[in-house]
Amino acid sequence: MAESTDTDALVLSDDPLHPANHICELCAKFYTLGWVTGTGGGTSIRHGDKIYIAPSGVQKELMRPTDMFVMDFASKSYVRKPQTHKPSACTPLFLAAFTRGAGCCIHTHSQWAVLVTLLVERDFGKDACFEIEEIEQIKGIPRGRGKTGNLGYFERLRIPIIENTAHEEDLTESLEAAMEKYPDTYAVLVRRHGIYVWGDNVHKAKTQCESIDYILQLAVQMKQLGLPWTK
Ligand SMILES: [Zn+2]
Repeated sequence: MAESTDTDALVLSDDPLHPANHICELCAKFYTLGWVTGTGGGTSIRHGDKIYIAPSGVQKELMRPTDMFVMDFASKSYVRKPQTHKPSACTPLFLAAFTRGAGCCIHTHSQWAVLVTLLVERDFGKDACFEIEEIEQIKGIPRGRGKTGNLGYFERLRIPIIENTAHEEDLTESLEAAMEKYPDTYAVLVRRHGIYVWGDNVHKAKTQCESIDYILQLAVQMKQLGLPWTK
């Protein structure tokens, strides 16, 4: 095999919280939620000066630590590149989050995320964000980078939406533009595609992704019942 074994030390560890192990475990869990079905979606973790990234086109629930790509964050060059896999097309999007201080970025193809982008377009137009308030689970989302605490029950959660492109990597420019326009956001929805959620560390990114997905599912069901998202 062309893959060099000397880089295996970067991904082989008995520690379940080592990023190569942690990404595999998280993706297996995300698969059961329908977030990474059919090889879609992905997860990336920043570990010191290294970025660990799940490969493209693999069944995310069956990955092994040795499937992981590892990139040097400063030089943006791969220090481990399994020859058997293609690098993730999400890589430049994950890097956009890490450049802004994230420790972990999760990309899902959640059907709730897709449906919410369609509902926002139909009811509020293409330029609108998803907005919701007075839902308890909003308290699982931080108020914004450099701000203390999470959103309060009476505060409004606002998630920008960008348009999908034919190729995942072509989303980078509009994702970065949304991050600049909404510096407090920890998530960006992609129309007819899914969502990118990031956090200061793995624990926070996972918590935020779960809280947001719960809210998106609730939002779809509220629409079905004719209930408004905001007062
Ligand atoms: Zn995707």
